[in-house]
Amino acid sequence: MTALPFDNSYARLPERFYARRSPTPVAAPRLIRLNRVLAADLGLDPDWLAGPAGLAALAGNAIPEGADPIATAYAGHQFGQFVPQLGDGRAILLGEVIDRDGRRRDIQLKGAGPTPFSRRGDGRAALGPVLREYLVSEAMAALGIPTTRALAAIATGEPVARETLLPGAVLTRVAASHIRVGTFQFFAARGDVEGLRALADHVVARHYPEAAQAANPYRALLESVITAQAELVARWLLVGFVHGVMNTDNMSVAGETIDYGPCAFLDAYDPRTVYSSIDRAGRYAYGEQPRIALWNLTRLAETLLPLLAEDETEAVASAEAALAGYAPRFEAAYHGGLNRKLGLGPVREGDPALAGDLLKRMAENQADFTLTFRALCGAAEHPEGGGAVRDLFVDPTAYDGWAAGWRTRLAQETRDPADIAAGMRATNPAFTPRNHQVEAMIAAAVERDDFAPFETLLAVLARPYADQPEHARYAEAPEDGGVGYRTFCGT
Ligand code: AMP
Ligand code: MG
Ligand code: MG
Repeated sequence: MTALPFDNSYARLPERFYARRSPTPVAAPRLIRLNRVLAADLGLDPDWLAGPAGLAALAGNAIPEGADPIATAYAGHQFGQFVPQLGDGRAILLGEVIDRDGRRRDIQLKGAGPTPFSRRGDGRAALGPVLREYLVSEAMAALGIPTTRALAAIATGEPVARETLLPGAVLTRVAASHIRVGTFQFFAARGDVEGLRALADHVVARHYPEAAQAANPYRALLESVITAQAELVARWLLVGFVHGVMNTDNMSVAGETIDYGPCAFLDAYDPRTVYSSIDRAGRYAYGEQPRIALWNLTRLAETLLPLLAEDETEAVASAEAALAGYAPRFEAAYHGGLNRKLGLGPVREGDPALAGDLLKRMAENQADFTLTFRALCGAAEHPEGGGAVRDLFVDPTAYDGWAAGWRTRLAQETRDPADIAAGMRATNPAFTPRNHQVEAMIAAAVERDDFAPFETLLAVLARPYADQPEHARYAEAPEDGGVGYRTFCGT
């Protein structure tokens, strides 16, 4: 048996979908971390991956048997501006494997050297952003949110030139696929309807096989992507995640969170929160994410018009009808999720207003997002509980004013308080990747070659819903509520 049993369906698509390109070897590869649990889920041998042959493959120094390395072509709207050609400028898809559950997964090396799509970039990645992506994507997976995964991080032993010289690294990224809204845009922008159809057929077969049975499979494909994205963005909001760079080339049609460049989690709740240093207009602020997802999906729908119907008016009507499904799906996922966070069953009239009132009071009182919802679990369990929550509000009476209505609504639930609290603890994480902890972890690794904080943080975030009293400090909010925190597009 080969160590990496590849079956490369994307590389069998027409040549114009990608450029064949091998990774560029690196000077002195060193394994920083291998995700052994994920390796096993993928049906791969962790010991082989951790050995010399595995290390060479993960660093891009050897092409494993069966790999067919390619850089994929895509376009995209970046901050609203259309760029007809982007493509994998520093990522190389080695191939696909079928995991233990029979699901096809991409194995991609990010930071593996230049490709024909690199433009002025060096094709490399710095260690800090690689560790950030590894940690945050694995944290998202542990939270139960669809995401690309991190299989390995390798230090290259080579510097990368950014504002200063930084240690380089390669991330092995695993994804249901790396097909983006921007991949559809690439073909649409060229008027390449045959390419578009081949791509759509590939996505249907790979991600949404049930759509093939529909009266109009392309309409069903569009609806499936819309549903997946509506649910994904709702889940981001429910854990306080700010993606930060929701360009159409960073939106996966498989419905996974992808591109962990400038992402961050909310500390104090404020829907206007923007972390990315380049997002000056706040286009990708926390509270804008549902609207932006629909904007991106509208761009996807436009690309599909030639496939939706022969008659253009009919195609537009079909796309609009599909897009009209976004808002109700998002609302159902978001409000259903908020109800679970508050210990409430199916959404009743008045529940969204109750949750909205809490969020408004949290914003007015700089209440920490993660801590507030986690502390509410204890408050639900004890009729007199609430002290821990109210202390998170600048004006604690703002909490009291809300909690009275919440108690009245909770009293309508038939489950006993311990059950309700247990349900809440399974949906309100104690631990999210705190920005100040992520930065401290990166600094230790980059400045002192100390990966202990990375390992500890990874272990804590692997069990986000468990109380881990010995790790209480990782749950703490930053002193200043995180005001002024900035992220940089990971490069
Ligand atoms: P992103 O902002 O991460 O979505 O990346 C946007 C585009 O820039 C993609 O086409 C990337 O492949 C490309 N890119 C980002 N960093 C580099 C780099 N260091 N070298 C080459 N291309 C890059
Ligand atoms: Mg990207
Ligand atoms: Mg990126």
